[in-house]
Order: sequence, then C-alpha cells, then structure tokens
Amino acid sequence: MAKYTPMIEQYLAVKEQAKDAFLFFRLGDFYEMFFEDAVKASRELEITLTGREGGGDERIPMCGVPYHSAEGYIQRLIEKGYKVAICEQMDDPAVTKGMVRREIVRVVTPGTIMEGKTIADKSNNYLVCVTESDRMMSLTACDISTGELYVTSVPSSVEWLRDEIGIYEPAEIIGDSSMLELIQAEQIQWSRPIVYTPWEKRDEKLVRSQFGEAAWARLDPERQQCVSVLISYLSETQRRSMGQLTQFSSYEPGHYMILDPFTRRNLELVETVRDRSKKGSLLWLLDRSQTSMGARLLRRWIDKPLLSRKAVEERLEAVEYLYNQFILREDIKSSLNEIYDLERLVARIAFGNANGRDLNALKISLQQVPALKELCRTSSSSTLQRIAGEMDECSDLCEAIDQTIVEDPPVSVRDGGLIKPGCDPHLDELREASINGKRWIAELEAKEREVTGIRSLKIGFNKVFGYYIEVTKANVGSLPEGRYERKQTLANAERYVTPELKEKEGLILEAQEKMVDLEYALFTELREKLASEISRLQLLAEKVAELDVYQSLAAVSAEQGFVKPVLTEGYDLVIEAGRHPVVEAVMKDSSFIANATRLTRDDAGILLITGPNMAGKSTYMRQVALISIMAQIGCFVPAGKAEVPMIDRIFTRIGAADDLIGGQSTFMVEMADIQVMTEKATPRSLIIIDELGRGTSTSEGMAIAQAVIEYVHDTIGCKSLVSTHFHELAHLEESLKGLRNYSMAVQESGENVHFLRKLVPGPAGSSYGIYCARLAGLPSSIIGRAYSLLQGLEQGVSQAAAGLETAEKQLSTTSAADQDETASDQPHAAATSEVIQLSIFGEDEIKPPA
Ligand code: ADP
Repeated sequence: MAKYTPMIEQYLAVKEQAKDAFLFFRLGDFYEMFFEDAVKASRELEITLTGREGGGDERIPMCGVPYHSAEGYIQRLIEKGYKVAICEQMDDPAVTKGMVRREIVRVVTPGTIMEGKTIADKSNNYLVCVTESDRMMSLTACDISTGELYVTSVPSSVEWLRDEIGIYEPAEIIGDSSMLELIQAEQIQWSRPIVYTPWEKRDEKLVRSQFGEAAWARLDPERQQCVSVLISYLSETQRRSMGQLTQFSSYEPGHYMILDPFTRRNLELVETVRDRSKKGSLLWLLDRSQTSMGARLLRRWIDKPLLSRKAVEERLEAVEYLYNQFILREDIKSSLNEIYDLERLVARIAFGNANGRDLNALKISLQQVPALKELCRTSSSSTLQRIAGEMDECSDLCEAIDQTIVEDPPVSVRDGGLIKPGCDPHLDELREASINGKRWIAELEAKEREVTGIRSLKIGFNKVFGYYIEVTKANVGSLPEGRYERKQTLANAERYVTPELKEKEGLILEAQEKMVDLEYALFTELREKLASEISRLQLLAEKVAELDVYQSLAAVSAEQGFVKPVLTEGYDLVIEAGRHPVVEAVMKDSSFIANATRLTRDDAGILLITGPNMAGKSTYMRQVALISIMAQIGCFVPAGKAEVPMIDRIFTRIGAADDLIGGQSTFMVEMADIQVMTEKATPRSLIIIDELGRGTSTSEGMAIAQAVIEYVHDTIGCKSLVSTHFHELAHLEESLKGLRNYSMAVQESGENVHFLRKLVPGPAGSSYGIYCARLAGLPSSIIGRAYSLLQGLEQGVSQAAAGLETAEKQLSTTSAADQDETASDQPHAAATSEVIQLSIFGEDEIKPPA
C-alpha cells in the first residue's frame, strides 16, 4: 500500500526526475514545494514554512508561491546558483475526474535562463560545455537568450581551458565530470559563481536535425561530440524546440590574441580589479553602443582581439570613416537608438514566449533598417558598403506584424485585444457579432424601461451570473409577473434574467470566446511564421551589432583624441606619446603625461623600468598592453602615433597578492605564472611583469628576477616590459644587448619628492620607500635609523652602484625641455601639463632618483 496520498505519491514520482532542482509543483494557483525542498526554499526565499497531511505519520513540510508571481522567486533561486524544475498541470482540473496529470515542462538553470533581471541587457549569459576525447579538449558556449553558439577545440591543455572559460564567464558549466574537476581544481576566483553539472549524454540526432547535415559534417568529430552533449542537456532541461539555435560558429583559438584570466583582469579589460564593476574598465570607456547587441559584440571583440591584420584593417577602415564623418555618425546613432535587442526578441519568438509587445518592438526595430542600410550604402567606406549589402531589411516580416498586431497590445496573448481589424474576415465577423450583441443589450435596456415604466432599471454583467436586469427594491412591485426570473438579491436591488436575455447572452459569450481563441491562433500563426524566418533576423541582428560597434569605437576615438594605429607583421612596437586610455579619461584635469615606447629588434626588446612606488610604472606598462589590444580589436589608440605589430599573446604578471588565487603564496603564484609564460610565449608575444621577484628574500628574489629576464632575452626573445624594485639589476643592460634601463623620473626639491610621471632612460637609484614611510608619518627615530641602515646596505652592493653611475651620467644631461627623442614626443595636452609642473617645481633640475 502506498505510504502517502495519491497527490504526494505523484509529487514524489515527479521529484525523482529533478533531484538536483527545486521542484515547483503546480497545485491550482500555487507552485508548492514539499519535504526538503520546502524547508530549504522557505529559508532561501524567506517564505513561510507550513505543513500538510499527506497520509504518512507526520505532517509534510510545505511552502508555496503564487503562480503569477513565481518568476521573481525562480530568479532568486537561480541567482543563488540553484535550478528550478517547473511542473505544470497537464489537464484542465475543471473537466478532469480524479487526479490531473502533472509533468515537468522546463528546468530553469543558471545557464539556461531566457529573461528577467538575472540576464543583464548588455551582457551574455553563457552555458559552457566541456568535453575531451583523443587528447583533444573541446568547448561549446551557448547563450539561449540570444541564440549564440560557439564551438572550438585544441590539443588538451588546462591553461587553454581556463583562458577560454575566463572569456565566456559562464553561469554554468556542464560536461565530462573529470573536466569539471580539473576546472574546479584551478581554484580561480571567477567574476561570477559558476554552477557545475556533470553531463555526458549526447544527442547527435537532434543536432543534425537542428543544424543540418552539411553544417554537422563540417565539424571535427571532437567538436561534434561537444555540441551534441550541450544540445542533449538543453533538450532535457528546456523540453521544447530551441529554434533560436540556427547555427554554430566554429572557430580556431589560434586566430585570436590569447589573454589569460589574470591578464584580462590586470588590464581591467571588462571590469575593474577593485570592485569588479564595468565602470573604469576598457569596455566601459569604449562602449558608446546604442543597442544591447552592439554592447555584447564589443565585449566579444575586446575578449578576442584579432591576429589577422587584414581583418583588423577592415574594421579600422570603417572606424576611420565614421571618425571623420560626425553627421553620418550621429544619423546612424539615432537610427540605432530606436532598435531593440533583436537577438533576444528573436530568441523569444523562437522559444515561443514572445508576446504582442515583443512583436511590435521587432516591427519598430525593422522599420529603422532601410534608413540604416541606405546610410551605409551611400557611404564611401567599403566595410560599411559590405554591411549594407549583407543587410536584409526583412520588410515582409515587418509588414506582416504591422498588418496583424494592434499598436498597443496587452501583455497577455490569451485574452484577445491584440489583432488588428481587417486582418482576418472571420475575426471581424465575430467582433461584429459581439458589438451587435452589445448594441442589442443597450436597446433591450431601453425597451425594458419603457415596458415596465421603471426608469432606474438597468442591464449589467458579471462573471458569475452573466447578463442580468437590475431593479431597485422599491420598484420590484412594478415588474410584470411571469417573464422575470430572479437570480440574485442585493441589499437594495434584485437581479433578474429573461429567456431572451439568456439566449442573447449565450451568443455574445460564445462569440467572445471564439474571438479570443481566434486571436490567439492568429497570433501564434504569425509568431511561427516569424520563427521560421529566424536565420534572416539573426543575420540582420549581427549586421546591426557590427555597425553599432563601429560607430561606438569611432565616437570614443574622436572624443578622446585617439589616432589610427599602423599595423605591421613585424616585431617593432613603436608608440609616440602614448597614454593610458582609462586613467586619462578619469583624470579630471587632463594632466595625464604621455610617454613614448620603443620596443624594437634593432635596439631593445626589453625595458627594465625602475622608480619609486607611485611613480607611474604600472600605468605605463598597462598602457602599452592596452594600446596593442585596442589596435587589434580595430579601434584607434591613445597616442600621438603608433606602429603596432600583431601580438599573439599578452602575459601580465602583476605582483598584487589580493586579487588572484586564494590559498597560495604570492611567490608561488608568480612562479607558476612565469612557468606558463616560459612555456607559451613566442617571439610575437608581449610580456609585462610588474615588480618581478617580490615575495621572497631580497637576494633570492633578485637572483630569480635576473634569471627570468635573461631567459626572456635569450630564449623567448619577445617584447617585454619589466618593472622591479631591485635597482641593482640595472647592470643587466651591460650584459644583455636587447635590454634598456628606464625609470620614472622624480624631482627632488629640498626634502620633497615630486613624481613627474615621465619615462626617462637610465635606472632609478632608490625606491624612496623610506621617503614614503616618512610621508606616512612614521616617527623620525625610525626614519633616521632606516636611512643609516640603507647607507650601510648600499655600500655593500658595489656592482649595482657602478652601473648606476653610468646611468646617472647619461641622465644628468636630460632635462624635461631637452630629453632624448625616445621620451620626448608627447601630445600638446601632455606637453602643457609638463610645463605647468615645471613652473610649480621651479628651476630645479629634473633628474632620476639617485
Ligand atoms: P607605480 O606602479 O609606479 O607604483 P602607478 O602606475 O600605480 O605607479 O601610478 C600611480 C598613480 O599615478 C596612478 O594612480 C595614476 O593616477 C598616476 N599616474 C600614473 N601614470 C601617470 C601619468 N603618465 N600621468 C599622470 N598620472 C599618472
């Protein structure tokens, strides 16, 4: 015999299919949860936990949420990293004898949400699938809310996996459990929590039918496997057609610059280190997009700078054209501004949850396309002309919506009121009948008043009794006998029906019901028609997004005074008057000091930069990396002039302990990073190491730093910027041909030190740590003692001192007004700020710290 009541037995059977999710079990107007789910949900959602008799010995814990407000609760659970299985009643309880059937209709997981607050307009919400076979690792990333699906693979490498996941920042990762363990073992603090779901089932058949045999056949076997694992997960959780997934884009990782998660974070490409907000990042600065699609595409471009010079130049061509065409840019901007999130609208249409308002948003967006297309077509940019050629206006779809949907449709698609008159003759007939019916009722009211002589008699309608004739108590006596049947008694009135009113009511209600059904049918017919044209709409969305990114990059470039970089296939990276785009933008007084960079094969590929804390070393090194990245996404760069080679990979090692991996020492982390660098860097890479050799004893740190620099110089041979505390390392310039000493100039006047933020040749003499300690207010006895200790220590390092002397000689000839050409080219703004600084500092000579 069953232990519980039939309903609870049914619940348990369904729950079996969704063990790792909260089961939202539909009971009438509520979704109820029972047992453990109820206890946990009541805590997580702060809702009251009750109980219910279920046939067992004890009451069953229960809690519930009203179905019409379930969305918010589901979202809260998803945000906390849970999954929610939604179980609906499959029969109409009103006409069902016994128990209604209940089934799970969808499992919502963090990686498969379609709408709501959780998915920000301007960013993607990815589900990532990872698999491994024949020593190849594959990764598929899918955003079902936009219909994007990317797939790639490489010979197995954990670092690659980590880098690629870092780019997608998925909400959820599924796939081989061994792979999931591998990722978790990396202990990376991702910028959002990731839910891991082991999943190894595949659905090859579904993939083939979804994307077509031809597309399937073009995929490598390991990628086929990865996509089919992902699709199988989607089909089991979403349980409906995934019409928005029309194509996958299969790409080679080698076509893009590689940026590991630490580098991406250090350079603050899409969020800041401090509070992980977009504000203050490169993305924030460059994003002037008008559409959400444009914002997402820009992010993708920043995530994946290109390696093909030709492809970058095509982008730069459009940016340059728009840079120079202010009015055209404004016209494009205002058209784009009217365009809604096409990708998400279209995905909702395919998913079957778009309403009348969504279709109108699509219509309004499509109405902008002809003008946009014309602006591109008549431009003299070949890139924009190409976009115009590829833009399908989809005017047939726009027209179909315009002919069908009223201007201001209701949210619900089931209650009528959304189809335009003249769209369907049968609907018009029903409407006519319903209007006629209502007219007939109005006439009947007049007639009844006349017949009965009761002037206050009225005809009303309510949902329970339908149409009725209402007469106040005082007038009841005036009603003729027989024809009036009493239906309802109120405090001071009686309500009646007559046979003819009943008959007409039947006709009116029937027409109304049919009307609502027909409207819904016409609406879904249109939605399905649009869904069948989804590829065209998605392609259009891509073009709009691309155009939006061009205008965005052009707008910032013009506003910030960026210049078009010259791209080369060579080695040399030469920047005149380079600036850090974000630091410059947030500085209110536009006093950013520009600095030049020369990393060349003939002269030096490694710059060893010394200088006190706060002198501007990391800002300088980051600016060089950012200029390279900006150039390779196709943006203008913050410089007076820039010659940029195609860089295949940027490594940064920045010695801040707090923001990286928990549980390991700074030094271990640094060494692990350096290890990866020695293995993966090529002569085309760019290495940035800030404060090399920190975190261990001075002599050891210095020894390791020197050995690493020598390795980079002799073995890797790539462009590098290295900053260090160890000014003793300056002697390396003598033994390493491709290394030059530089420092951030400071100016001493009396007891004070001023940072000039100017990169000058030659090493710095002291790190001014004691000076900083004094600034911080340490007692003078400590400061005095520290100075005398330092003196003793410095006398011990004679070799470094010798190296320093040479550099000093070299530098004492350098003044701000008369610097060597490497460091002197700067834009007007910076030149002015330098003059201001000089006048503040008086006539003191500018010299490197010594
Ligand atoms: P370091 O790495 O030498 O300790 P940072 O690069 O962190 O120094 O720079 C310290 C501060 O100096 C930065 O926060 C920035 O505001 C300012 N700064 C850096 N470089 C410049 C520059 N070129 N022009 C103006 N201000 C700068």
